[in-house]
Amino acid sequence: MSKKYNMSIGGESVAADKYVDVRNPANTDEVVGQAPQATPAHLEQAISAARKAFGSWRHSSEDDRVGACQIVAQVVTDNAEELAQLLTKEQGKPLNGLGSRFELGGCAGWAGFTAGLSLPEKVLQDDDEKKVIQQRVPLGVVGSITPWNWPLMIAIWHIVPGLRTGNTVVIKPSPFTPLSTLRMVEMINKKLPAGLVNVVSGGDELGAKLTSHEGIDKIVFTGSIATGKKVMATAAQRVVPVTLELGGNDPGILLPGTDPAKYAEGLFFGSMINSGQTCGALKRLYVHEDDLDATTQALVEFSKNIPLGDGSDENSMLGPLQNKRQFDRVVELVEDAKDNGGTAVIGGEPLGGDNYFYPVTFVTGVSDGVRLVDEEQFGPVLPIITYTDLDDAIARANGTQFGLDASVWGDNRKETARVAAQLEAGTVYENKHADIAPNIPFGGIKCSGFGVEFGEEGLAAYTSIKIINAAA
Ligand code: NAD
Repeated sequence: MSKKYNMSIGGESVAADKYVDVRNPANTDEVVGQAPQATPAHLEQAISAARKAFGSWRHSSEDDRVGACQIVAQVVTDNAEELAQLLTKEQGKPLNGLGSRFELGGCAGWAGFTAGLSLPEKVLQDDDEKKVIQQRVPLGVVGSITPWNWPLMIAIWHIVPGLRTGNTVVIKPSPFTPLSTLRMVEMINKKLPAGLVNVVSGGDELGAKLTSHEGIDKIVFTGSIATGKKVMATAAQRVVPVTLELGGNDPGILLPGTDPAKYAEGLFFGSMINSGQTCGALKRLYVHEDDLDATTQALVEFSKNIPLGDGSDENSMLGPLQNKRQFDRVVELVEDAKDNGGTAVIGGEPLGGDNYFYPVTFVTGVSDGVRLVDEEQFGPVLPIITYTDLDDAIARANGTQFGLDASVWGDNRKETARVAAQLEAGTVYENKHADIAPNIPFGGIKCSGFGVEFGEEGLAAYTSIKIINAAA
C-alpha cells in the first residue's frame, strides 16, 4: 500500500475521504503515493485558517518575517534529499543535472535571498506643508496555483514573498505533482506559526474554486496561457490583483557565421532543461541557412553525451515527460511537423513501454506556420529554422502571442546587443538562455504573463501602497 500524503490546514495535518494515485512517469506501473482530494469544506477551512493567521501576521515585525523566510530556507535545506527523491519519483526529472537536487538548491537559494529583500517606507515629502509617507502593506490571503514542471521551486516563489511581506498563503499544487508540495508544506508547518502556509490538493476545479473565493486577496498563478486567461477573468469579478506567469515559445537567433560548436552546450541546456518542460526554455532556434548543417551537427554531437533515463538513476541527466497529456502533445506536434516537411535529424519517436520517455529531438525543414514552431511544445524537441535575412528572423521571432524570453547568440557583441534591443520579450539573453535568479525580476509580456516575480519588484506585487499624508 503506497503512502497517503495529507493536506496542511491551520498547522494541522488533514486527511481526506478520497485519495488518488500519483504514478512515476518513468514507470507508470509504480504508484509513488496517494494525494488527498480536498472537498469544498477543506478549502473553506484552509482559507479561514489563513485569514485567522493573517490577523496577527499582518502586524508582524520585519525581523519575524525575515525569520520565517529563513526558516523556510532551512527546512528545504535540511530536507533536500528526501524532497528531491520524492520530486524525482512523481515529476520524473533526474536527481542530478538540472534536476531535483538542483531544484531543491534553487528553493533554498530563492527563500534565503528573498528573506533579505525589503520594501522600506519612503518619505515622499516632509516640509512646512505636510509629511507624506509611502508604506507597503500586505494584501491578505494569497491564493497560489502551481504547475507540474518545477513544483517545489515555483511553490517557494509564491510562498516566500507572500510571507516576507506579511501575507498568509493557501497553495494548490498541480494534480500531476501534488506530493512533494504536500510534504514540503507539512515540513514547513512544523516550524512556522499555524495557518501561515496552508496546502489543499485536488483537481483543476479546486483551482477554480480557490481563485474565485471571496476570502482570497491576491492570486499568483503559474501555468498555461489558457488557464491564466480564466484566472484573470475570475479575478476581475472581485478586482483581485493577479500575477500571471504563463507559457512561452522563446526564440533564439544565431547570428550569421557563428561557430555553433562554441555555443552548443548553452543552446542544448537552454532548450532541453527539464526535458524542455520549462516555461523559459529555448523553443525555436533561428539559424542562417548557410549555418544549418553545422548547427544541427553540433547539437546532435553534444546530445550524444547526455544520458536519458529513470530519474532515480544517478547517471541520468534527462528524464521522461511528466504526464500522458504532455507526452501525447509532443508526439502529436512532431508527427504534424513530419507531415509538413519536417525531418527529425535525431529522435522523433517515443521510446515505448509503460512510461513517458521521449528522446532529444531536433527537427529541420519546418518554419513559421507549422504547429511545432508556432505553439509551445514543452518537450525535448527543438525546431531549427533557417533564415536568409537577419531582420526577417527578428520579425519572425517577435511575430507571436508569446513574449517570455528570447536570446541572440554570436561573437560580435555589438551585433548581439543590436538584435537584443529589437527582440520583444520580458527577458532577452545574449549568448545564453534560461538564466533566472532571485535578484532579477522575471515575467512575460503579451500572453506570456502579467507582472513580475523576484527582486524588489516581485516582492512589491504582494503589497499595496498605503500613503500616510499628515498636515504639518
Ligand atoms: P495548467 O494551466 O494546465 O495548470 C496549472 C495549474 O492551474 C494547475 O495547478 C491546475 O490544476 C490549475 N488550474 C487548472 N484549471 C484552473 C482554473 N480554471 N482555475 C484555476 N486553476 C486552474 O498548466 P500546466 O500544464 O500545469 O503547466 C504548464 C504550463 O505552465 C506551460 O504553458 C508553461 O509554460 C507554464 N509555466 C509558466 C511559467 C512561468 O514562470 N512563466 C513557469 C512554469 C510553467
